[in-house]
Amino acid sequence: MEDYNMPVTGTDIWYYYICHREVWLMKHQIAPDQEDESLDIGRFISEMYYKRDKKGMSIGNIVVDRIRQEDGQLVIGEVKKSSRYIKSAKMQLLYYLDTLRKMGIYAKGELLFPEERKKEMVEWTEEAKEELEQAIEHIRRIARMPVPPERKKIPFCAKCAYREYCWAEE
Ligand code: SF4
Repeated sequence: MEDYNMPVTGTDIWYYYICHREVWLMKHQIAPDQEDESLDIGRFISEMYYKRDKKGMSIGNIVVDRIRQEDGQLVIGEVKKSSRYIKSAKMQLLYYLDTLRKMGIYAKGELLFPEERKKEMVEWTEEAKEELEQAIEHIRRIARMPVPPERKKIPFCAKCAYREYCWAEE
């Protein structure tokens, strides 16, 4: 079982840079509070601000918010609510870029923060790829833990879908 390469998704990557406990809960399919509004807000903002673009496009098993071409190169875009978690957003997009490269598609990425009227380009590099691989390996180690990592109070807890699970008694 040690050699089994557990699948890791873009969502896992995003949460990895926020909270390792959340990664464990998701990998163990612990259902979050389904009525939590924070689960849908990102999609809502995407629809509000980028109506003219094709949304939810998929390439293989990657689903991205936006796809366009620039100077003959594919540019994939992710719409985010704010740049507060920009590290997560960058690494998630990098994961998509890396997956596309494995399919022979050399794309660039852009992060879109419509509420802030901000855009940031993300490019695949050897260094970024190495960081990504270390994160993926660490996610697999977290997922193999028999119990979740200790909870830690961070600002994200306030809007996390697992906040009841983690902090109900407080
Ligand atoms: S509530 Fe906080 S500690 Fe619990 S999973 Fe969410 S972010 Fe992590």
